[in-house]
Formats: sequence, C-alpha cells, structure tokens
Amino acid sequence: MCGIIGYVGKRQAAPILIDGLKRLEYRGYDSSGIAVVENAKIKLIKSEGKIAELEKRSSGGKKLNGTFGIGHTRWATHGEPNTTNAHPHVSNDGRFAVVHNGIIENFAELKSELIADGCKFASETDSEVIPQLLQRIYDGDMLAALRTLESRLKGSYAVGIVCADEPDRLYAVRKDNPLIIGLGDGENFIVSDISAALRYTRKFVLLDNSETAVVTPDGIKCYDASGAPIEKEPYTVDWDVDRAEKGGYPHFMIKEIHEQPRALTDTLRPRISDGDIDLDGINFDKSYVDGLTGIDIVGCGSAYHAGIVGKYFIEKHCRIPVVNILASEYIYSDPITDGKRLTVIISQSGETADTLAALRLAKKLGSKTLAIVNVVHSAIARDADSVLYTHAGPEIAVATTKGYTTQVAALYLLGLKLAAIKGTITQKRFTDLVEKLEALPNNVTEQLAEPEVEKVKTLAARYADHHCVFFIGRGTDYAASLEGALKLKEISYIHAEAYAAGELKHGTISLIEQGTLTLALTTQTALYHKMESNIKSVESRGGTVLAIASPANSHIGECCNDMLTIPECDDDLSPVLTAVVLQLFAYYVALDRKCDIDKPRNLAKSVTVE
Ligand code: GLU
Repeated sequence: MCGIIGYVGKRQAAPILIDGLKRLEYRGYDSSGIAVVENAKIKLIKSEGKIAELEKRSSGGKKLNGTFGIGHTRWATHGEPNTTNAHPHVSNDGRFAVVHNGIIENFAELKSELIADGCKFASETDSEVIPQLLQRIYDGDMLAALRTLESRLKGSYAVGIVCADEPDRLYAVRKDNPLIIGLGDGENFIVSDISAALRYTRKFVLLDNSETAVVTPDGIKCYDASGAPIEKEPYTVDWDVDRAEKGGYPHFMIKEIHEQPRALTDTLRPRISDGDIDLDGINFDKSYVDGLTGIDIVGCGSAYHAGIVGKYFIEKHCRIPVVNILASEYIYSDPITDGKRLTVIISQSGETADTLAALRLAKKLGSKTLAIVNVVHSAIARDADSVLYTHAGPEIAVATTKGYTTQVAALYLLGLKLAAIKGTITQKRFTDLVEKLEALPNNVTEQLAEPEVEKVKTLAARYADHHCVFFIGRGTDYAASLEGALKLKEISYIHAEAYAAGELKHGTISLIEQGTLTLALTTQTALYHKMESNIKSVESRGGTVLAIASPANSHIGECCNDMLTIPECDDDLSPVLTAVVLQLFAYYVALDRKCDIDKPRNLAKSVTVE
C-alpha cells in the first residue's frame, strides 16, 4: 500500500535507498526503514515518523556499507505506526529481510502456526509472517522457497526480499499490489512506484500478478506462478516526476478513482471468509445487539454521506433505527445516548476535529463507539471502543473517492454482521449479499474500463458549462445523490443540490427551467415508477435529465435526455457503483472547466479545526 525500493549494484546501497524513499514521501507514510546486506549480514535501520529521522539515524545511509538492500515507507494496516512495526522485518535467524506493501489476510493463522513452532515475533504486523515463513521454508533454493511462500499467503502483497546467504540479489513477488523493476547500467531496482527510481533509469519492467523476479546488478530473471522462466519486455517512460507520482494519471483524484477495486478488495476480503463476516474480531454479543435502541452514525462531509447509505442498509436489514448526525452538530446538540445505543464514528483521516469531539462526547455519555477510519492508529482509531479500518491506502486528492466508497463498504459489512447476530436476515439473503459484496471490486473494474469512462467523459463535456445541477434519487439513491452533488460542488465549483426525488415538488421544482440539468439516480427497482414520474415532472418544466440507471431500470433512458448505466449489482449495494460514475462525472466536468482538481479552492484534506 505504501512504498518499496530495492537496489542492487556496485554503489553503496543505503544512500540510494533513502533517496528513493524520499521520492515516495508524497504518498504519505508513518514510518520507514532500510536493510542492507553487508558481509553476509543484514544491517537494519528503522524509524518512526519522517524519513529525515531515518536519514539522521543512518547518516544519510553512510552507516551501512553493502551494495544491495531494500527500503520501505509504511502506511500501517496492522499494528501501530512505530519503529518496531516499521519495515523491513527480519527473520529470527537474521537471514531474511522483507518489505511488504498490502495485507496478508491469513496472517493470524500463519502467526499461530509459526509461534507453535517456536518462532518469536518482534512486531504486531501482518507482514512479519513473511520473513519468518521464509526462514522455515528455505533450504538453499530461493525460487522454490518463494513458490511455497506464495502458496501459503492469502491477501494482497508486493514484497521485496534480501537474503544474507544470497549475495547481490533482490527477490520480488507480488499479488494485487504493484511492483516494478527498474533497469539501470550495472545496477537494478525494484520499486512499487516508478517515481522512486526515475532519477536512475527510465527503463522498467512491470511484474504481473503471481510472478517472481530475481534481480542482480547485471540483469533480471522472471518466473511465472508455476516457476517457469518468462521473458518480459522492458518499456521506457518519458514521464516527468510529477506524472510519475500520479502513476501516469494527470491528477491524484483520477488515480485514486482507479484504485478503488484494490481499495474495496482490501476493505472487504480480509473480513469475509467462507461466506461469513468477521469484523477483525470485534465481538458484539447477541444480548447487546438485541437490546440496541438505536445507532447514531456521526461524520462530516462525505463520511456523513457514507453514513446515510449505512442508515438505509442497516435499518432495512437489522430493523434498528439509525440516526445520521453531522459531527459539528452532535457536539452542541445535547445528544441523547447511553449504553443501549451504538455510535458509529466515520472519518477517513481519523483526525477530523469535529468527529473526534463527537466520539469523546458519545463515550462520556456511555454509548459504545465503533470507528470506521482509514488511517491506522489515528486519534479516532485510538479513542474508539473498537475500530474497523477501511484499508483504502493513502488518499492525496482533497476530494475523497476511495475513502468514501470503502467507508460505505465497511458499513455494509457492519450492517450484515449485526443483521446476522440479530437474526433479522435469512441465511439465503445473507449469503447472497455477501457474494454480491465480494463482487463489488470487479463491478468497479468494469466501470473503469476505457469505453465506460469515455461515455462519462462525453457527457461531462456536454454539461460542463451548466451553473446549477440537481441530483435526485429515492431511497438509497437519494443517499448516493448527496455524495454525487458534493463531489461536483467541491471540484468544479458548480452549484449542485441533492434532493429526495419525491421532495422536489414541495418547493425546489420552481427552480427547474429550460435546460436545468438534473442527474436522476434510478437503480432502485421497487421505486422505478415513482422515479419515472419525478423525471417526467422535471422534463415537463423544460429540464434536462441525465439518468444513472441499473441495467434492470435502463428503460428509464426512454424518458431522459441521456443515460449512463452501472454494472449489474444488488439494489442495496448500488451506491458504491453510482459513486464511481458520479466521481468520474465530477472529475471530467472539473477538467473541462480547468479547475485545480486535486486542491480545490478553500478546502483542506484533513479538517483538524472545529
Ligand atoms: N500491512 C503491512 C503493515 O501494516 C504493510 C503496510 C503497507 O503497505 O505499508 O505493516
């Protein structure tokens, strides 16, 4: 999820590793470290916080003499961001050092097995199982050891390895997390992001899923999942540093939109196994869930909107009343809560001042608190009774995309878990929804295929000069409209307003005039005819309607000016998919209007003031 650099060549490795890590700093990280092999021994320096600290501890890398090694910037998912948990992690016998991006989903199982075998773990990370496993598997044949390792690991990973017994070589394996090999002259690199090696080379080889690479100063050898050698074509990039940091995309926002399949996978997959949901061991006992008088979902901005999607889902499946409350209102509204209510606190950064204050107040009033947060060990994560991390990875664009959709996914998991405990959902429907939830990342991948994105782009260009846009929907489509309108406002500065479609006639419809654009979300089959009437009433006042419909409701296109469809999914889960369309729409409108997309005026990424 965060950054990897590996170097093998003739030069002193450590200063190059530190330089590479600095190029990865823009992504955000909480700790860093390097490991170099010197006289067949692994030498390690790690530090919490900024790379400047690592630089100081290693005298700019000069303290470590070897000519090959690995470095890492960590974005914690398992275990506090501290020096011990920073990567690289080293096996008990000191022979293997490993850097890892991603999540090892079955780490708990592997860890127990290793502990039973006498292994001592130094860190709380999931990643440490990798060097410890390697120590046990390796018998002199590293390639065979890596194949066995991969057969044992579940989850997503990009891994860089050095072994004290294997001079002048780096090993790399990956699954669902990027890893790239940089080709220099008498020296080579492994990187998670080409910006880390762009100063040294422009020639790269992309490692595909389940492939292994052995990187030496004079070349690379790649192998497929069965261990057969493969030839890989290098490619040359002409990107400047700015473009490289954005993975070739023009903005962080569009890069992060495209990261959603991976982000959603990391939110969902570690919590779903054999058709059941385990919320990281959070135990709600049945008597507590049965006795709940209500759930308050508290957040600001997009997190608040995610909470509204959660309300529809939880009320429907758990039959527990849910109240959505803006964090800034919660703290001054003398909230009514006690031990019979659950307060769900949502924040991407985990540092949002209003939300943190709300969390503290809810706790003081005796409510149980559950945080849905992206940044591990952030203030909200630390203070809440329990925490469900979204694992969206670092989000740099101010307007949230993957931060929001992963919050929604986490709320689905929570809703399904509570419904199962309470017995308000049949086993059949539970299994069905879990399966469809697991399919969501693939649904998003379909949406992000070029022809689909092109359709959104064309319509965005058509409507980019509008000054006022309405978003309407019913039920969960209304919840999704709120976020769609916010996205457009934030980055394109077009005034946008979300309305429950049935509410238009109670006043707002007076604002519809010739050509006024309304985006009508129509994914709820049960509400189709109601939406059809609402759309017709907009059109009969001269309004222009762009529908966002599910395939089952696509005949709505007949009464609209334009239509975009989302992939087939359960009606209850459509807000994730409509969010992706609306993010793309907002992005391309803002691009057309030449707005500063990643840093919209007057906004900050993490709002730490009240
Ligand atoms: N899951 C690992 C950890 O928490 C890797 C995090 C990362 O990708 O930086 O240490």
